[in-house]
Amino acid sequence: MTLDPVLARIDADLPHATDRLLDLLRIPSISTDPAYKDKCDQAADWLVADLQSIGFNASKRPTPGHPMVVAHSGGDGPHILFYGHYDVQPVDPLNLWDRDPFDPQIEDTANGKVIRGRGSSDDKGQLMTFVEACRAWKAEHGKLPANITIFFEGEEESGSPSLTPFMEGNADELTADIALICDTGLYGDSTPAIITQLRGLLGEELTITGPNKDLHSGMYGGLAMNPARVLARIIASLHDDTGRITVPDFYDGVPELSNELAAAWDDLKFDEKHFLGEVGLSEPAGEQGRRPLEMLWSRPTCEVNGMWSGYTGDGFKTVLPSEAHAKISFRLVGTQDPLKIRENFRKMVQDMLPPDCSAAFSDHGASAAGQMTTTHPAFDQARKALSDEWPNAAAYVGCGGSIPIAGHFKDILNMDAMLIGFGKDDDQIHSPNEKYDLSSFHKGIRSWARILHAMTDSTE
Ligand SMILES: [Zn+2]
Repeated sequence: MTLDPVLARIDADLPHATDRLLDLLRIPSISTDPAYKDKCDQAADWLVADLQSIGFNASKRPTPGHPMVVAHSGGDGPHILFYGHYDVQPVDPLNLWDRDPFDPQIEDTANGKVIRGRGSSDDKGQLMTFVEACRAWKAEHGKLPANITIFFEGEEESGSPSLTPFMEGNADELTADIALICDTGLYGDSTPAIITQLRGLLGEELTITGPNKDLHSGMYGGLAMNPARVLARIIASLHDDTGRITVPDFYDGVPELSNELAAAWDDLKFDEKHFLGEVGLSEPAGEQGRRPLEMLWSRPTCEVNGMWSGYTGDGFKTVLPSEAHAKISFRLVGTQDPLKIRENFRKMVQDMLPPDCSAAFSDHGASAAGQMTTTHPAFDQARKALSDEWPNAAAYVGCGGSIPIAGHFKDILNMDAMLIGFGKDDDQIHSPNEKYDLSSFHKGIRSWARILHAMTDSTE
């Protein structure tokens, strides 16, 4: 099946595709707020009807929370699963929006036309890029070039409580040759990106207790141990002078960057001065001798996310506190074992405690890093297809954050996942005045048409 007429049809149909997206954006499917339960249901219904209109066997599937949408095209070729989410973030603070977040509009801006409204970039605009590509294939050739399963979630913005049970309960139906996930962004403004590694996350809360009650520093100070002092010493010791993390065996499983990836990342010409300058900083603060992109994507971190003790209100109080607290998180890479690191971290803290102090811990999640196996041929096919569409060649990039869905496809369904998205850094997802560039929407649709063509080896 030929690609060119599909691309021409996408170009001609863009006004209609935009109208359909605006329709979907008008449904306020805020998943975290129970007041919008019916609206989430309505968004799922809208998608089921739209997918049915292009020949998918689509249904809304109940969960204890918001429904999933599952649709199958059937047909020949490789079996491809596409994932997106139809729920959106709340819109507060509403007064910071320049317009009603659920009355979306095309706006002219200095940087071109944008679709303004909640969910335009995250993730309704993105998931519709794939649906529109399917629509054009179907209209032009009467069928899709692959056996496609579409899987839309309605709880991504509220912690995905139903996701893994649903995947486990419907594993046969959802398992395909590869998963495509469209919920990420471009690198910069015009470099398409395929995410091949995601960092994991370990969260720990720590309380050091010294005296059994708050004391007066005039009466006890000098004689009594102050747990704030102990906590400060522990936190200060978590990194050495070169920025390395000192938890024992912490670097077990941290891979060195391959020469190939190092060269590819150097080609991205990451501008750390600009990146840091935007937030009022100037110098990379990670491990000495590492590239800034390594610090962001492929090196593990330890960060203090909160620390408090004693009196922190207005004025002053000469308290010698009974307790000191910290919230500490680790971003993990490679095959670092979060549970082993938790154990070693806790032991390190225990070993540093002076007499009369005790430590208590509570955990705030532990997930390992995700590493995609780029040997699946789909990666190379997608990279070439994306490079044909965009002004810059597509890049394999890392992601400093954690996107659990990619790991679930691997762990539960034993599928590789490709994360490809067309958002931009200034889309203001989760914030007021969210937008999606109309050109991202258009080129996103064309990108999926090209990727489907490349993955199905269609001969002209
Ligand atoms: Zn999203």
